[in-house]
Amino acid sequence: GGLSPGATANLDREQVLGVLEAVWRRGDLNLERALYSHANAVTNKYCGGGVYYRGLVEFSNICQNDCSYCGIRNNQKEVWRYTMPVEEVVEVAKWALENGIRNIMLQGGELKTEQRLAYLEACVRAIREETTQLDLEMRARAASTTTAEAAASAQADAEAKRGEPELGVVVSLSVGELPMEQYERLFRAGARRYLIRIETSNPDLYAALHPEPMSWHARVECLRNLKKAGYMLGTGVMVGLPGQTLHDLAGDVMFFRDIKADMIGMGPFITQPGTPATDKWTALYPNANKNSHMKSMFDLTTAMNALVRITMGNVNISATTALQAIIPTGREIALERGANVVMPILTPTQYRESYQLYEGKPCITDTAVQCRRCLDMRLHSVGKTSAAGVWGDPASFLHPI
Ligand code: SAM
Repeated sequence: GGLSPGATANLDREQVLGVLEAVWRRGDLNLERALYSHANAVTNKYCGGGVYYRGLVEFSNICQNDCSYCGIRNNQKEVWRYTMPVEEVVEVAKWALENGIRNIMLQGGELKTEQRLAYLEACVRAIREETTQLDLEMRARAASTTTAEAAASAQADAEAKRGEPELGVVVSLSVGELPMEQYERLFRAGARRYLIRIETSNPDLYAALHPEPMSWHARVECLRNLKKAGYMLGTGVMVGLPGQTLHDLAGDVMFFRDIKADMIGMGPFITQPGTPATDKWTALYPNANKNSHMKSMFDLTTAMNALVRITMGNVNISATTALQAIIPTGREIALERGANVVMPILTPTQYRESYQLYEGKPCITDTAVQCRRCLDMRLHSVGKTSAAGVWGDPASFLHPI
């Protein structure tokens, strides 16, 4: 209460916790309504009405880590392991540009090898070069000019806003913990955004879910290095991890603020047979009504989105796929509660079944065309439209407040 429409508020951990407790108890529906409508007003003020699309390409499920919740962890049995050929990744990026999606997120398992790094550099370079060329051709065709004139006009636009020319698709990476030198090389290849979830801001809970040599402090160091290397920084957590408390979640909001994240993605933890975290979850909640439990996690996740929006204002917040696994219209609901980004899955259909992070992951038999069209309709259903034609850099990065 007491906030003017669209105003941010520097909430502290106790205040965040108070709201989460109310949402958890479902005791105060007026408070929930006020929370979501205020978060939506802040979103409209800082991000406009337009929703940014990020095309997700799950390029490989080969992973050296053994995160206890994940369906593609190293020790997960019976997973067909794949890496998409570079040319195929580039084709997806070109298709994205032609279909109004100007951001590609390359996501995959983590591998610290030189071979993987060379592969990623090749993907990033080729995507930047080929989509820039394609973009110039598309602009020249639309304006009946030459590609050189189209390039000059993009350059002039960039100088006016003191940024890079927004040509081609901008590349985001979600490929885990790497040494600083590798982050720098990937930046030089042309990547500009990087996402690693901290998964939880509680180091003890992190340790319980990630066997050694993984460590919470090493992950924080990676987040700091990514900022130093010049990336727009994305992070996030899962909501409903076995052993997690509301106090931990309130700490997560403080963590995002303190690390100065530009992009936040949060999703409910979803069980996946054959993973240690799912065994732990089942032991903790032997009599749980799974549907109603997951519905509560959905509400807590969107409340977290709303609280981050109100606390941080001008960041990009993603309505994640895992929300849709719980409620078919989950992402649309999240867009009304603080989120301003959605990520259509563009991974070619033949790979999707093998990138099964959790059970019930949606869109597994769909094609990119279907995902793109379906999202337009979904946005329309909540009175939003996609902000096509721009990269949609997080305003926090361009204009820190
Ligand atoms: N390997 C990279 C990394 O760890 O950052 C990127 C891929 S990883 C599969 C992407 C995200 O999937 C993780 O950060 C985690 O939050 C999420 N994830 C994995 N298993 C999940 C589960 N069972 N339920 C919900 N989200 C899950």
